[in-house]
Amino acid sequence: MKLAVAFGANCFFAFMLFSAAASALAEEPAGSLTAAAEKYPENQPRMETKKFGLVIHGGAGTIERTKMTPEKEREYRAGLERALTAGYEILKRAGSSIDATEAAVRVLEDDPHFNAGKGSVFTSAGTNEMDAAIMDGKTLAAGAVASLKHVKNPISLARLVMEKSGHVMIDGEGAEAFAKENGMELVDPKYFFTQERWDALQKIKSAEKSRTSGAGKAFLITDQDRHGTVGAVALDENGNLAAATSTGGTTNKRPGRVGDSPIIGAGTYANNATCAVSATGDGEYFIRASVGHDMSALMEYWGLSLKEAAQTVLDKVAKLGGTGGLIAIDHQGNVTLPFNTAGMYRGYVDPNGKFVLEIYK
Ligand code: ASP
Repeated sequence: MKLAVAFGANCFFAFMLFSAAASALAEEPAGSLTAAAEKYPENQPRMETKKFGLVIHGGAGTIERTKMTPEKEREYRAGLERALTAGYEILKRAGSSIDATEAAVRVLEDDPHFNAGKGSVFTSAGTNEMDAAIMDGKTLAAGAVASLKHVKNPISLARLVMEKSGHVMIDGEGAEAFAKENGMELVDPKYFFTQERWDALQKIKSAEKSRTSGAGKAFLITDQDRHGTVGAVALDENGNLAAATSTGGTTNKRPGRVGDSPIIGAGTYANNATCAVSATGDGEYFIRASVGHDMSALMEYWGLSLKEAAQTVLDKVAKLGGTGGLIAIDHQGNVTLPFNTAGMYRGYVDPNGKFVLEIYK
């Protein structure tokens, strides 16, 4: 296996140059990705040098070292590492970016530390409602789901919507009926319960009560209590980009509220001509700033670099009053992971194939 490194101006560079398979596996059909990497045999003949890349996030917010125990930090890092491994195993075997992003996001959905799937935050009604989206940069095909209550892995339902429904977005009961028709795993809503998220809801409700009653009791509400999201973007060795995002939304949101994550062109976007983007932060602002599509348009029409485009849209979000961050990768494998909060759970594979995991600024 040949490995080379390329650096350029302005970006974290994560060029992965590998002697890669002239692969018969370039176009993978849809399906369950429980053991996605197994679809890609490790000993494929490798004939030409190609690059690929993977970036993930587990949400941005008030994440400070002083408030984190070493044990907690280890758990977050382990979760991020498992997600990177799931995606990377697929990419290094000449798998598709769609498969890699779905696999990485599924791992984060199954991890109770992150606000997506198991570990989702609670609505004001004490329920969990999840949103997700996935987009294929080659075809601009996209699938999105919103307000799910029983789907264990929302990202896989988003993919099913993209590939089998003839629609781009399906929400609520209709989405869950479609999941059932297609044999997808539905779970009791209890599956999504975590004590930490429940406590965060109670804290926010108490703070609200204190504010409206004029009692003025102080509650420290962190972004960690309020929201989070998970996402992955990837470039595969066939030059195809993909983006995937999944979230429980924001704590104490009204039932039926939908954030930016499943909005194609806001929290999720991919286009082979430009970049793949997955965002996290105050959804209402990310929707109004059209973050994902704006970034792509800045690159396509104005020729901005990936990093310049990302910073421009994040500045636009900040100007509106929103906080958060995003991860993005372009068709050359450049990556960027900007955020305007104290921290963002994030990771990428560096040019040497080493996993880089970061949390704080
Ligand atoms: N963007 C998500 C939402 O608004 C939340 C987050 O990423 O923190 O639903």
